[in-house]
Amino acid sequence: MIGLLTIFLVISGCLCMHFYYESHTIATVVIDAGHGGYDPGSIGADGTMEKDVTLKLAKQVGKTLHRMDRRIKVVYVRDDDVVDWADNETDDLIGRVIFANEQKADYYLSIHLDASENLEARGYSFYIRSDDDISRAIAYQIEENLNQIHWSQSRGINQTDQEPLYVVNNLQVPSMLMEVGFITNSEECRNIQRNTRMLAKQIAAAYYDIIIKQTETE
Ligand SMILES: [Zn+2]
Repeated sequence: MIGLLTIFLVISGCLCMHFYYESHTIATVVIDAGHGGYDPGSIGADGTMEKDVTLKLAKQVGKTLHRMDRRIKVVYVRDDDVVDWADNETDDLIGRVIFANEQKADYYLSIHLDASENLEARGYSFYIRSDDDISRAIAYQIEENLNQIHWSQSRGINQTDQEPLYVVNNLQVPSMLMEVGFITNSEECRNIQRNTRMLAKQIAAAYYDIIIKQTETE
Protein backbone atom coordinates (compact mmCIF):
# COMPACT_ATOMS: atom_id res chain seq x y z
CA MET A 1 0.00 0.00 0.00
CA ILE A 2 2.78 2.39 1.00
CA GLY A 3 4.57 1.32 -2.16
CA LEU A 4 1.56 2.24 -4.28
CA LEU A 5 1.15 5.54 -2.46
CA THR A 6 4.82 6.39 -3.05
CA ILE A 7 4.48 5.59 -6.75
CA PHE A 8 1.34 7.73 -6.94
CA LEU A 9 3.05 10.65 -5.20
CA VAL A 10 6.13 10.40 -7.42
CA ILE A 11 4.03 10.30 -10.59
CA SER A 12 1.79 13.19 -9.57
CA GLY A 13 4.87 15.15 -8.43
CA CYS A 14 6.50 14.65 -11.82
CA LEU A 15 3.30 15.68 -13.62
CA CYS A 16 3.01 18.82 -11.50
CA MET A 17 6.62 19.75 -12.20
CA HIS A 18 6.03 19.08 -15.87
CA PHE A 19 2.98 21.38 -16.01
CA TYR A 20 4.73 23.97 -13.86
CA TYR A 21 7.66 24.21 -16.26
CA GLU A 22 5.49 24.07 -19.35
CA SER A 23 3.37 26.95 -18.08
CA HIS A 24 6.38 28.99 -16.95
CA THR A 25 8.18 29.21 -20.25
CA ILE A 26 10.64 32.10 -20.12
CA ALA A 27 11.76 31.82 -23.74
CA THR A 28 11.05 29.83 -26.86
CA VAL A 29 14.13 29.06 -28.92
CA VAL A 30 13.57 27.84 -32.45
CA ILE A 31 16.55 25.85 -33.67
CA ASP A 32 16.90 25.35 -37.38
CA ALA A 33 19.14 22.57 -38.63
CA GLY A 34 20.26 23.92 -41.99
CA HIS A 35 19.16 22.12 -45.17
CA GLY A 36 17.52 18.68 -45.00
CA GLY A 37 15.48 16.32 -47.13
CA TYR A 38 15.96 17.11 -50.80
CA ASP A 39 18.75 19.54 -49.95
CA PRO A 40 21.98 18.01 -48.58
CA GLY A 41 23.75 21.38 -48.26
CA SER A 42 27.50 21.25 -48.85
CA ILE A 43 29.26 17.92 -49.09
CA GLY A 44 32.64 17.14 -47.52
CA ALA A 45 35.52 15.28 -49.13
CA ASP A 46 34.52 12.06 -47.37
CA GLY A 47 30.89 12.38 -48.48
CA THR A 48 29.64 13.91 -45.22
CA MET A 49 26.47 15.86 -45.90
CA GLU A 50 25.95 19.22 -44.22
CA LYS A 51 22.29 18.43 -43.47
CA ASP A 52 23.29 15.44 -41.30
CA VAL A 53 25.87 17.34 -39.25
CA THR A 54 23.58 20.33 -38.70
CA LEU A 55 20.75 18.04 -37.56
CA LYS A 56 22.87 16.27 -34.94
CA LEU A 57 24.26 19.53 -33.64
CA ALA A 58 20.86 21.27 -33.58
CA LYS A 59 19.29 18.48 -31.56
CA GLN A 60 22.20 18.39 -29.15
CA VAL A 61 22.09 22.16 -28.61
CA GLY A 62 18.35 21.98 -28.00
CA LYS A 63 18.57 19.06 -25.60
CA THR A 64 21.38 20.69 -23.62
CA LEU A 65 19.65 24.08 -23.45
CA HIS A 66 16.37 22.60 -22.23
CA ARG A 67 18.26 20.59 -19.62
CA MET A 68 20.02 23.72 -18.37
CA ASP A 69 16.65 25.31 -17.68
CA ARG A 70 13.38 23.48 -18.24
CA ARG A 71 11.61 26.81 -18.59
CA ILE A 72 13.41 27.32 -21.89
CA LYS A 73 11.25 25.78 -24.59
CA VAL A 74 13.07 24.44 -27.62
CA VAL A 75 11.36 23.89 -30.95
CA TYR A 76 13.12 22.30 -33.89
CA VAL A 77 12.39 23.36 -37.43
CA ARG A 78 13.13 19.71 -38.25
CA ASP A 79 14.15 16.84 -36.03
CA ASP A 80 14.80 14.32 -38.77
CA ASP A 81 15.64 14.34 -42.45
CA VAL A 82 12.14 15.29 -43.50
CA VAL A 83 11.26 18.82 -44.54
CA ASP A 84 7.54 19.16 -44.97
CA TRP A 85 7.48 22.17 -47.19
CA ALA A 86 8.13 22.88 -50.85
CA ASP A 87 11.32 21.46 -52.27
CA ASN A 88 12.79 24.60 -53.72
CA GLU A 89 15.08 27.01 -51.96
CA THR A 90 12.84 30.10 -51.96
CA ASP A 91 9.76 28.39 -50.56
CA ASP A 92 11.97 26.43 -48.19
CA LEU A 93 13.33 29.63 -46.61
CA ILE A 94 9.88 31.25 -46.48
CA GLY A 95 8.63 28.06 -44.80
CA ARG A 96 11.23 28.36 -42.08
CA VAL A 97 10.29 31.98 -41.33
CA ILE A 98 6.58 31.14 -41.18
CA PHE A 99 7.34 28.24 -38.87
CA ALA A 100 9.41 30.38 -36.48
CA ASN A 101 6.61 32.96 -36.33
CA GLU A 102 3.95 30.30 -35.76
CA GLN A 103 5.96 28.91 -32.89
CA LYS A 104 6.22 32.42 -31.39
CA ALA A 105 9.99 32.21 -31.33
CA ASP A 106 11.81 34.53 -28.94
CA TYR A 107 15.15 33.46 -30.39
CA TYR A 108 16.05 31.85 -33.65
CA LEU A 109 19.24 29.92 -34.29
CA SER A 110 20.11 28.49 -37.65
CA ILE A 111 23.01 26.04 -37.79
CA HIS A 112 25.09 25.57 -40.92
CA LEU A 113 28.52 24.46 -42.04
CA ASP A 114 30.75 26.58 -44.23
CA ALA A 115 32.35 25.48 -47.48
CA SER A 116 35.31 26.81 -49.40
CA GLU A 117 37.47 25.92 -52.38
CA ASN A 118 40.38 26.52 -50.05
CA LEU A 119 40.43 23.20 -48.24
CA GLU A 120 42.52 24.71 -45.45
CA ALA A 121 39.88 27.30 -44.53
CA ARG A 122 38.68 26.77 -40.98
CA GLY A 123 36.80 28.46 -38.17
CA TYR A 124 33.27 29.44 -37.27
CA SER A 125 31.33 32.62 -38.00
CA PHE A 126 28.02 34.31 -37.27
CA TYR A 127 25.45 36.22 -39.28
CA ILE A 128 23.13 38.63 -37.52
CA ARG A 129 21.14 41.80 -38.33
CA SER A 130 23.11 44.94 -37.53
CA ASP A 131 20.41 46.17 -35.10
CA ASP A 132 20.25 42.87 -33.22
CA ASP A 133 22.28 43.53 -30.07
CA ILE A 134 21.01 40.44 -28.30
CA SER A 135 22.26 38.07 -30.97
CA ARG A 136 25.55 39.97 -30.96
CA ALA A 137 25.85 39.35 -27.23
CA ILE A 138 25.10 35.65 -27.75
CA ALA A 139 27.72 35.42 -30.50
CA TYR A 140 30.35 37.09 -28.27
CA GLN A 141 29.47 34.67 -25.50
CA ILE A 142 29.81 31.67 -27.83
CA GLU A 143 33.22 33.00 -28.93
CA GLU A 144 34.28 33.31 -25.32
CA ASN A 145 33.08 29.81 -24.47
CA LEU A 146 34.79 28.30 -27.50
CA ASN A 147 38.02 30.17 -26.80
CA GLN A 148 38.05 28.69 -23.34
CA ILE A 149 38.13 25.18 -24.77
CA HIS A 150 40.59 26.30 -27.50
CA TRP A 151 38.14 25.42 -30.22
CA SER A 152 39.24 26.37 -33.74
CA GLN A 153 38.97 30.11 -34.40
CA SER A 154 36.32 32.75 -34.85
CA ARG A 155 36.02 34.33 -38.27
CA GLY A 156 33.87 37.04 -36.77
CA ILE A 157 30.35 38.35 -36.74
CA ASN A 158 28.91 39.31 -40.10
CA GLN A 159 25.99 41.65 -40.55
CA THR A 160 23.23 40.64 -42.89
CA ASP A 161 22.89 44.17 -44.29
CA GLN A 162 26.01 43.40 -46.27
CA GLU A 163 25.33 39.76 -46.90
CA PRO A 164 21.55 39.35 -46.90
CA LEU A 165 20.25 36.18 -45.36
CA TYR A 166 16.57 35.68 -45.91
CA VAL A 167 15.69 33.95 -42.66
CA VAL A 168 17.69 36.22 -40.37
CA ASN A 169 16.48 39.38 -42.11
CA ASN A 170 12.83 38.39 -42.14
CA LEU A 171 12.39 37.65 -38.46
CA GLN A 172 11.77 40.36 -35.87
CA VAL A 173 13.24 38.44 -32.92
CA PRO A 174 16.96 37.92 -32.19
CA SER A 175 18.07 35.67 -35.04
CA MET A 176 21.44 34.23 -35.80
CA LEU A 177 22.92 31.94 -38.35
CA MET A 178 26.06 30.20 -37.19
CA GLU A 179 28.46 28.54 -39.57
CA VAL A 180 29.97 26.11 -37.11
CA GLY A 181 33.03 25.25 -39.18
CA PHE A 182 34.12 24.13 -42.63
CA ILE A 183 32.79 20.90 -44.02
CA THR A 184 35.42 21.21 -46.74
CA ASN A 185 38.23 21.08 -44.18
CA SER A 186 38.32 17.36 -43.48
CA GLU A 187 40.03 17.77 -40.12
CA GLU A 188 37.58 20.37 -38.89
CA CYS A 189 34.62 18.41 -40.26
CA ARG A 190 35.81 15.33 -38.36
CA ASN A 191 36.36 17.35 -35.17
CA ILE A 192 32.86 18.79 -35.29
CA GLN A 193 31.34 15.33 -35.64
CA ARG A 194 33.48 13.84 -32.90
CA ASN A 195 32.87 16.70 -30.48
CA THR A 196 29.22 17.46 -31.16
CA ARG A 197 28.32 17.30 -27.48
CA MET A 198 31.07 19.62 -26.31
CA LEU A 199 30.42 22.09 -29.10
CA ALA A 200 26.68 22.05 -28.44
CA LYS A 201 27.29 22.66 -24.77
CA GLN A 202 29.22 25.89 -25.46
CA ILE A 203 26.52 27.18 -27.80
CA ALA A 204 23.70 26.25 -25.41
CA ALA A 205 25.51 27.82 -22.44
CA ALA A 206 25.74 31.15 -24.30
CA TYR A 207 22.00 31.11 -25.04
CA TYR A 208 21.25 30.16 -21.46
CA ASP A 209 23.34 33.07 -20.08
CA ILE A 210 21.76 35.68 -22.31
CA ILE A 211 18.21 34.37 -21.86
CA ILE A 212 18.57 34.50 -18.07
CA LYS A 213 20.02 38.02 -18.27
CA GLN A 214 17.17 39.14 -20.52
CA THR A 215 14.59 37.58 -18.22
CA GLU A 216 16.06 39.42 -15.23
CA THR A 217 15.99 42.81 -16.96
CA GLU A 218 12.39 42.42 -18.19
ZN1 LIG B 1 24.38 25.59 -45.25
